[in-house]
Amino acid sequence: MDTQEAPEKDYQDADVGKRILQGALVLAIIIIAVLLLRTTPERPPVSADSGYRQVMGTFAHIVAVAPNTKTAELCVESAFSALALVDKRMSDYDATSELSKVNQTGCEHPVAVSQELFEVLTTAVEYSKKTDGAFDVTIGPVVDVWRKAGENGLKPSDEELAAAQAKVGFKKLILDAENRTVKFAVEGMRLDLGGIAKGYAIDKAIEAMQTGGAVGGMVDVGGDIRCFGQHKDNTQEWLIGLQNPQVEGDLLLKLRLNDMAVATSGDYRRFVLIDGQRYSHIFDPALSTSAKQLTSVSIIAPTAMQADILATAVSVMGKEKGLKLIESTPNTEAIIIPADSEKNIVKTSGAEVYVKE
Ligand code: AMP
Ligand code: MG
Repeated sequence: MDTQEAPEKDYQDADVGKRILQGALVLAIIIIAVLLLRTTPERPPVSADSGYRQVMGTFAHIVAVAPNTKTAELCVESAFSALALVDKRMSDYDATSELSKVNQTGCEHPVAVSQELFEVLTTAVEYSKKTDGAFDVTIGPVVDVWRKAGENGLKPSDEELAAAQAKVGFKKLILDAENRTVKFAVEGMRLDLGGIAKGYAIDKAIEAMQTGGAVGGMVDVGGDIRCFGQHKDNTQEWLIGLQNPQVEGDLLLKLRLNDMAVATSGDYRRFVLIDGQRYSHIFDPALSTSAKQLTSVSIIAPTAMQADILATAVSVMGKEKGLKLIESTPNTEAIIIPADSEKNIVKTSGAEVYVKE
């Protein structure tokens, strides 16, 4: 009996095994087919155009992907025009800019400003509140004191810093939305949009490309970048290299982004040297001294303006408070290099998703 039953069971086992194998094979084919359909959708062929130009005191690189070459070329042009327009309005190096006019007469009377400048100032104040004053575009007087200190090679005195600090504070900035005017509550106040204007300009350039018919594109202004849509290689992602602050020309890591922006702040980019010591160009509005806890802060966010603001803010707030802020801000991630342990890169919990292996 035993000897007769055994072959029959073997036969049944083999039959069941065969059917399981066939089922698994069919399932695998379906999964592969679905994956293929999802990753390689039919896309019409595209053309791309790109350009490099000097703008906002740095280099800008723009790429536009469009259904045809002419549209791509026009999109690159209109993106550069959008950058130039923001610079014309918000530069504090140009004495005739709209921002300079506010700085010149803002303490005398309310100054009527463009929709764009008003939008940037309103957003800046919103983030000053969110960051407990770490981000503050009224930082101008402190920036001036340290700029002069750098030129003279002498650290500012406590009196100079106290006098500058008395003119700083977003609560002293009076924004009238109804009349779209800006007024300073204290004499000697000065707005500095160095921590936000670049991001805003990048967003405007992206908008110009989208309006112009681009199906994808990338705008890079001095390492602050936003990209959208289709890459010229017909993929849906853009590879963005983050510079290693310690080694010129070396990449820290590569990010895989789409419809996102990344901005980096750091003392390696711009600083003043006094007695051989480096002072960052980013200042803590509460202390009027330069931020020194972090060597580099990169923020990934949906818009370049948000990334730009938050990178400057986190540089002031430091590691703990900064990470907490970014963890609690939706759709944003941070990649930080602390000044005290530069080999240890710190990331927020969702940042790894964007890092290319
Ligand atoms: P970023 O390179 O975007 O971090 O911007 C740095 C620039 O923002 C500086 O050069 C200043 O013009 C300005 N800035 C410095 N400190 C602050 C601050 N605490 N809040 C806002 N802007 C700042
Ligand atoms: Mg910034």
